[in-house]
Order: sequence, then C-alpha cells, then structure tokens
Amino acid sequence: MHDLQRPGPRAGGGVRARCACVLLAAALTVLSATAAAGGTDAATLFGFGASESGRQQTLEQSFDAKLDPADLRAWLKTLASDANHVGSPHDKANAEYVRDLFRQWGWDAQIEEFDVLYPTLKHHTLELLAPSKFVASLTEPPIAGDDTTKLTDGVPPYNEYGADGDVTGDLVYVNYGMPDDYKALARRGVDVRGKIVIARYGEGWRGLKPKLAWEHGAIGCIIYSDPHDDGYARGDVYPKGGWRPPEGVQRGSVLDMTLYPGDPLTPGVGATKNAKRLPLAEAKSVLKIPVMPISYGDAQPLLAALGGPVAPGSWRGSLPITYHMGPGPAQVHMAISSEWGLKPLYDVIAKVRGSESPEQWVVRGNHRDGWVFGAWDPLSGHVAMLAEAKAIGALLKSGWKPKRTLVYASWDGEEPALLGSTEWAEQHAAELQKKAVLYLNSDTNSRGFLAPEGSHSLQHLLNDVVSAVKDPETGVSTQARLRARMRVQGFEKDPGDARDAAEEKARDARLAAAGGDLPIGALGSGSDYSAFLQHLGLTTLNIEYHGEEDQAGVYHSNYDTFEHYVRFGDPDFAYGVAEAQTVGHIVLRMADADVLPLQFSDFAETIGDYVAQLRKLADEKRSHTAELDKLLDDKAFELNADPRRVVGPPERAAPVPQLNFAALDAVVARLKASAQAYDAAYARLTGGELKLEARGRHALNEQLQGMEQKLTDARGLPRRAWFKHFIYAPGVLTGYGVKTMPGVREAIDSERWTEADEYAALTAQVLGVYCDGIDRAAALLGGSK
Ligand SMILES: [Zn+2]
Repeated sequence: MHDLQRPGPRAGGGVRARCACVLLAAALTVLSATAAAGGTDAATLFGFGASESGRQQTLEQSFDAKLDPADLRAWLKTLASDANHVGSPHDKANAEYVRDLFRQWGWDAQIEEFDVLYPTLKHHTLELLAPSKFVASLTEPPIAGDDTTKLTDGVPPYNEYGADGDVTGDLVYVNYGMPDDYKALARRGVDVRGKIVIARYGEGWRGLKPKLAWEHGAIGCIIYSDPHDDGYARGDVYPKGGWRPPEGVQRGSVLDMTLYPGDPLTPGVGATKNAKRLPLAEAKSVLKIPVMPISYGDAQPLLAALGGPVAPGSWRGSLPITYHMGPGPAQVHMAISSEWGLKPLYDVIAKVRGSESPEQWVVRGNHRDGWVFGAWDPLSGHVAMLAEAKAIGALLKSGWKPKRTLVYASWDGEEPALLGSTEWAEQHAAELQKKAVLYLNSDTNSRGFLAPEGSHSLQHLLNDVVSAVKDPETGVSTQARLRARMRVQGFEKDPGDARDAAEEKARDARLAAAGGDLPIGALGSGSDYSAFLQHLGLTTLNIEYHGEEDQAGVYHSNYDTFEHYVRFGDPDFAYGVAEAQTVGHIVLRMADADVLPLQFSDFAETIGDYVAQLRKLADEKRSHTAELDKLLDDKAFELNADPRRVVGPPERAAPVPQLNFAALDAVVARLKASAQAYDAAYARLTGGELKLEARGRHALNEQLQGMEQKLTDARGLPRRAWFKHFIYAPGVLTGYGVKTMPGVREAIDSERWTEADEYAALTAQVLGVYCDGIDRAAALLGGSK
C-alpha cells in the first residue's frame, strides 16, 4: 500500500541512519582479504566463520540459479487476471493457488482464516447542486490497449472505512488537508464547520485528511488526485505514458491506523471466529464522516465552481482553472451507503522446519490483495517472494535444510488496514516474540534503486548482502548504484524538498561518499511490517526496488494491471529477480548464521543522530516562537498584508521551555560504548572461525533474538498504546511517514512540553535496557573465547 507519490518530508524524524561500523567493517575487510589470499574465493560473511562462509556462498549461488524471470511473469499474469480485493472470488482463488504452489515446492502450507469488519460499498453519489449542475462519474472507463481494464466485476472507486452518510453543504478547498492548511484557511476567515471539504492527495497520508476535516467540523470529505502531483504535469498519461489519466481514481483506506491497524473490532487480538468483538460504535479507528475519492476529471467542475479568496501559490495545482478556497457558492451533495458485515481473510502460511534451531523463525511476508487487479501493488513484490520460495524448495530437494525454521506468508487484506498481517501477528504474538529472529517485508517492486528500511541493527547485514547483488541494468552492485544515487541527490538538491528531507539527503550523501555501509531508513507505516515491528518489537526489514515515482500513475486504481506493469514497471522482471536475490540471501543468512548477524554500532550512531535532531527541533521551535512574538507585538503581519484582502496574523504560541535531554545524552554515550565493545568482541572472535562452542552460541543467539523487543515498553505510546516501540512509529500527523523516538518527537511537534520531558526519560530508560542486552551479548561472546 506504499504511497510513492510525493510522500512529502519523510523526515520530521525519518532521517536515515548512519553507519559507524568502521571497526567491524575494517575487521571484515581484512578477513575477506585474508580468506581470498588464502586460496579460497569466499569472503567471510557477517555471522559466519570462514569455512561456513564458503558453504553459504555456494548455497546462494545455487539459489540464484533457480530464479527464472519467466516464472515471475507467469505468476503475475495469473494473480492479476481479475479483481482480488477482500471478499472477491479471485482473492480466495489466489490464496488456494499460492498455497498449492508452496505445497508443490515442498513447503508445509496452510490457509489461516480470520473474519474482519469490512464495509462493502453498495451505493455512492456525488453532485454539484449550485451554481451549476454536474454529476460526478465516479467510474474508471477502460483504457485502449489494456484489456484487463474492461473487466467490470471490481467495485467502483471508494474509500474504505469512511462513514455512511447523506450530506449537502457548501464546498471548501483545503489544499492537502493538513494542519497548516487549516491555519491558512483560518487566517483568511474561512471556516469548514458544516461544510464539505475537497482535499488533494499528497503530503500527508490519505486517512488524515478526513480525520482532520472532521476534527475541524466538516460534514464530508472529497479527496482527488491533482495532475500537479499525480497526472499530466508529471508525465504522459496512460496509455501513452504511465501517468494517471483524467478518469483515474486513487482508492484507499481511511481507517485511523495511527491509533491501531488491523480489524477495527478486535484491537490487540486475532480476529478469529469466536474472538470478542467491539460493537461498531466503539471502534475508534472508523471515521465519522463520509469520504470519497475522485479523479481530476470529476474534480475540475467542482473546483472551478468555487468562489472566495484565491488560493495561495503553494495551494495551486495544475488544472486549467483559478483555484479558489470557497466556501461556496459551489454546493455539493454526497451520499454513501455500505454493507457493514464481516468478511473472511485468507492468509497463506508456509513453513520449512529448521534442522538445528527449529524454535527460531525467519518470517517473510508480502501482501496478496490489491484494490482491483493489483499488478504493481502488491503482486510485483509477491511474485518475487514466490520465486524465493520455489528456489528454496529446489534447495530442499537437493538435500539442504535451513538451520532455523522458515515461515513465508502471503497476506490478505493489507490494503484496507494491514488486516491479514496484523490479525496473524496478534493471534501468534507470544510465539512470535519468543521465536522470530526477523520479519522481512516487501510490497510493490519495480525497476530502479534498492530502498532498504528497518531495524538499524541489520544495517550491516543488509550492506553485506547487497554489495554482492548485481543491478540488472548497470552491472554494478545494487549497493554501488544506491551509493551513487545518494551522492548525486546530496549534490543536486531538489528545491521542492522540505528542509528535513534536504538535511536527510545531505547526511546520506556524506555517509555514502565516505565509502562504508550505506544508511538505511527508519520504518513508519504503510505496509505489513507494522504489527511485527511496532506492536511486537521484532527485528524487521522492508526491502524493495523502486524507480522515480513510476507507480504513481496507476496507484490504487483500476489501471494497475499486468499490461501497465510490463510496460512501465519491470518489463523483463529483472528487478523482480534482483529483489528475490536480495531478500533470499538475507533469509538464507538469517536461517543459517552461526551468530545472528546483528550489529549495534550503526544503531548507536543512529540514536545519537536522533537525539541531536530532537534538541535542534526544540531549539528551533523556541527561537521561531520568540521571533513570532516580536512580529505580532509590532503588528508586522497586518502592515505586511494587502489592506483590501483580509489575511490575519498567525496565532500566538506559548513560549518553549528548556527540555531535559540529560538522560538521553547519557544513554547515547553508554550505547556507543556498549556497541563498540560488542563489535570488538565479535571481531576478535572471527579469526577465521567463529570459535564458539555450541552451548555458548545457543545462549548468544537466544539473547540476540530478543534484542529488538527491549526497545518496546508495555505502556506504549501516549494515547495509542497498541504502538509499543519507543524508537520507530508512524506519525500521528504523517500517517505513513516515520517519527523516530516518537514519544519525545511528537510531544515537541505538538507543544506538549511536560510529556516531552516525561518521554525523554522513559525513552532513555528503554535504551538503558537495550544497553544491558548488548552488554550481556558481549559477555556471551567474550566469555567463550
Ligand atoms: Zn501494497
């Protein structure tokens, strides 16, 4: 469900981490060189001894040899041949097809069912009543040359989990519908109470738009794709190019997933047949007003009919009209009714039992359901996962067995609310927390660049793997290509970037140029990793390849078809194979590593950066507030405004106190020291072999398995206790975009100063527990020397 179109600042905390594993990298380089000089062509792999490394690399080579792009193409064609959203016949057929493939390849595969609240659209209508009449089409007609788009058994475009309703009101244009947009409206005397708002897609997550509209008193919300962000201003539209045509509509969930994802009726527990369910009225994540997505073809007459102030420059899209804010004289009627029943979910869960440590699990997932045909989102990633499973099946037949248990999952119901993954994670929470050593996710995949995100303790492993995966189109490694991209993006600077995003790119560029490990991003939300990372605290990665926003044109529409994907996504499925290699190698290494390949210096340096950002955020807010006070005292805004057009001054903000970062500073220093001690102990141990006797190794791996959970706290984040991770969370006001150290960062963002101090102390406490864990792991390493 990733939204790739102009995601806005991914920072505000989403700053990519830096690598500091200089010591370890140097040690490994020396070891690799020694191994090469010693007559074996095997480098020593992170987590393996020298002789095991050679065996592992041979295994990876035979894995690679079994990946066939023709397979990916055939599976994609079959899976995307009909609409496969939750509740559709093809969704169930796909589940059975995928289960049977796994079984055919030697996996133990089952379908696990859940029953979730899933409103199905019965009827919706949208019309302009005044000053002229217009009825919105709310349909996506077939596209010439794409036969799949002729199929009509899909549901017309709608937003999932908006409220039913029948409302009439004056229209107000609210730009992206984010908090600053409402401040801009207020300064112009525009109030949305009792009105219907129209917002464009982009900047913040879709579900925040109706939520904020409702909080500001609106009675309905329309969301449209402006061609400036997603249409002809970006490139030629489908079928000439890949971009969104005038009739294209972005469907999508508007459930309040920043509160909790998954079934709205069963927060925290699996939605099994007999689960205890909340009454619908008590499901806090379901929206309170009707919401409807429309195309820019349908939006233009509505926007053109608006009066009121002309929209400020940054609010104007690319439609050939003058953008006004309203309210009115445009008057709109919208009505939606749905069937609010339970629908079945079909997760496919496939396992291969581990030969040495079956009680440790490597878990890998990708969702299978799309909004309609879902060729890009999610099936492009799903077929890469199938390729891994088939290749692993062939390795099994040749006699190899993984040391740890492999668990592969084909999730259902991701699009509406991360349903299949969340319910399964909640249902098996205790077992997963005890057993899982990794959750590895992917979603949409296409030609382009590696996009790694996740737990920073895996940053070094990821780099170790992708330095040996070849980019299909340039022949260098996918790591080398990403390194070049980071350096160029830091050099060229995009004037459209928000400051946080620009700073993040500059940092990435600096680290990339330094030549060590590339930084990976932190995870917010937007795909199936959320429950595993943020609710259960499992070590998590999300690994995909992407180009330049090339999916935006058909994202969540009827035009996300096989035909579109093979023209604009990954025509020869070479990047599907690269994805299967990248993910497959990580899976195989996590499955067979002597010592689980976690590394803590990267994490420690990243945390140090986050704390520095928090301090800067508070300092800048303080000086900004002081400056604003002076301007307000001097009536500067009034004097700067055009006296004939009313734009009032901004609201005064409370002064920003000094926050107490002492505990965080202290724990960062300790974290860096503990991490270095662990990495040094590991490097000492790898003098050719990982000289750990079996008992010591077992204890160490058990310790490493639970490390990420030490970053969680049972109390959870303020006002959303489902989210337990104290380092990574989706932002309450970004939706998909990450907020790192969210307890502190969001308190500063929202000017809750007591809470900021309270969560700075709590986050430091959590990090202290993590340090204890590293120290214990280092002792287990050192003790067995
Ligand atoms: Zn998806």
